[in-house]
Amino acid sequence: MSDTSHPSQPSDSRGPILFMFLDGIGLGADDPTCNPFAAARMPLLNTLAGGRWLANGSRRTNDRASFVPTDPRLAVSGRPQSATGQAAILTGRNVPAEIGEHYGPRPDARIRHILAEDNLFKQIVARGGRAALIDAYPPGFFHAVERGKRLLSAIQQAVYDAGLPLMDEQALRRGEAFSPDWTGEGWRTELGYTDTPVYTPYEAGRLLAQQARRYTFALFSTWVTDVFGHRGPFDKAVAFLERFDSVMAGVLDHWPADGLVIVSSDHGNMEDLSVRKHTENDVPTLIVGRDHARFAAQIRSLSDFMPGILNRLYG
Ligand SMILES: [Zn+2]
Repeated sequence: MSDTSHPSQPSDSRGPILFMFLDGIGLGADDPTCNPFAAARMPLLNTLAGGRWLANGSRRTNDRASFVPTDPRLAVSGRPQSATGQAAILTGRNVPAEIGEHYGPRPDARIRHILAEDNLFKQIVARGGRAALIDAYPPGFFHAVERGKRLLSAIQQAVYDAGLPLMDEQALRRGEAFSPDWTGEGWRTELGYTDTPVYTPYEAGRLLAQQARRYTFALFSTWVTDVFGHRGPFDKAVAFLERFDSVMAGVLDHWPADGLVIVSSDHGNMEDLSVRKHTENDVPTLIVGRDHARFAAQIRSLSDFMPGILNRLYG
């Protein structure tokens, strides 16, 4: 098999990987009154997945993409949570089993210890690759972290443990990091900025892809989906999914043919707005790009991502 080399990725022989992480999305019922995935118009995402993003248990594959219902429960009872779920994604370990429970939202000392021992970002950096979390955080986030008022998420902690920066307002302004709502409207409406960039969803996806492809592995993470899962409202959750469909159109139109884009989550929540808690449902994993089916065949649960990604990049 011949591989394409990227000038910006001297240590790699494989195409770049982008992980689009949406906190708290699972596969729920075909009920458009409580499941935004059953109500939203997602023409691109549903086509890529070979059907709607609902709980029917089947893994599917087509020319362009594979869709894998993915186990976040990891044989531990209770409702899956963000810290243990994200740590499982980024360490390849069954973190809930190791600590004896699903735990979250932010990692405690036990989970931080596991993340510090090894994680996907550390592995890629150690092999000479370029890795990044391309989320932008406002000044208030950094102030709260510095004052000890806020713990990092498991994803942020893994990035920190790899010696990589968390990106800030200036990175957002330069178009090197992105808002959790993709378009950047939230920086204006929620944070009070008047001059930060605002993009259309498609344009945000295009720019996100252009940034992410500079890296061996880039992760974009949004928490907005989990907040909709806890609080609704339903119509805004539907609109957010429809926005995501347009974002992904922009991403995939500008992603290298030899690369891979992965969409997945840490636990269910938003797919059932009749309850405000996390669910125990499978989470969706969408894999788009070269040899997507080979990658998909390695994915059963959250702890399969790290070995699958390292195998894809370096195996
Ligand atoms: Zn939550």
